[in-house]
Amino acid sequence: MCTPLSPRCALSARLKAMTEPLRRPQWLSDNADAIERVARYLRNRPSTPLCDACLAKALTFSITDVRVSVRRLVATGRCEEGLWWCADCATKASVTVAFSA
Ligand SMILES: [Zn+2]
Repeated sequence: MCTPLSPRCALSARLKAMTEPLRRPQWLSDNADAIERVARYLRNRPSTPLCDACLAKALTFSITDVRVSVRRLVATGRCEEGLWWCADCATKASVTVAFSA
C-alpha cells in the first residue's frame, strides 16, 4: 500500500518529477527577437549608457532576457558593456551602450 509517508512513495514521486519533461526556461527560448529589440532600443539612444534594469523596464523584458541579449550583442561587437552610471536611473551599474554607427 502506498501512503504519502512511505519512503518508497517519496522516491517514486521524485523519480516522476525527474522524468517529467523539463520546462524550458524562458530565456532559453529563441530570443533573436529580444536581441533585435535591445539592439534597436540602444541604437535609437546612441551614447546613452543604460543599465540592465532600465533596459528591462523600457522593453518590458526580464532582467535575464536583457542580460542574455546584451551578452550576445557584446559578443558580436554590436554594443559595448561596462561599469558606468546609467543615464536613466543614475546608478553605477553594468551598463550597455550601442556603438555609434
Ligand atoms: Zn538604469
